[in-house]
Amino acid sequence: MERISWDQYYMAQSQLLALRSTCTRLMVGATVVRDKRIIAGGYNGSVSGSVHCVDEGCYVIDGHCVRTVHAEANALLQCAKFGVPTEGAELYVTHFPCLQCCKQIIQGGIKAVYYAEDYKNHPYAIELFKEAGVQTKKVELTYLAVDTQYNKKEKYIRELLEELEAVSNDTEKYATLKTEAEELFNIR
Ligand SMILES: [Zn+2]
Ligand SMILES: [Zn+2]
Repeated sequence: MERISWDQYYMAQSQLLALRSTCTRLMVGATVVRDKRIIAGGYNGSVSGSVHCVDEGCYVIDGHCVRTVHAEANALLQCAKFGVPTEGAELYVTHFPCLQCCKQIIQGGIKAVYYAEDYKNHPYAIELFKEAGVQTKKVELTYLAVDTQYNKKEKYIRELLEELEAVSNDTEKYATLKTEAEELFNIR
């Protein structure tokens, strides 16, 4: 059994949250972590009770959709709403924060930002993070799937391949199947 690391676990959670985004321009998820506990999460979405971009289309001004509250802001505001301190907490986010979110993250007292993907990384945001002593680090999501049966499935496919190799006369067909399995299950 391979245990998922904390980094991968929080990033996977953010990735899952991103799937809840209602703005089709960019699906973003963010998770606030304090003392190894998830204390809040957010995704790109409209103000509570308002229409969604996925239903009504984006409301674009100057090339930006103005309808949505960004994932990072939503996560921090969830803490504000329920009175949870964010001082000294960490943030896991699917994309490098925009300039507005960067400022809010700093003001919220977040001490580290882990992001999975670079996204128009604004030089001023980078500068502000540095100035504020907020650590930024890229953490790519390498955990293959949130699948509790994954190890069992991989073992099963390995065994099937071994059996097949022993009985198959069609080496080309076998090689194709093997390559496909290796890609699917990341077998080396
Ligand atoms: Zn939108
Ligand atoms: Zn933002």
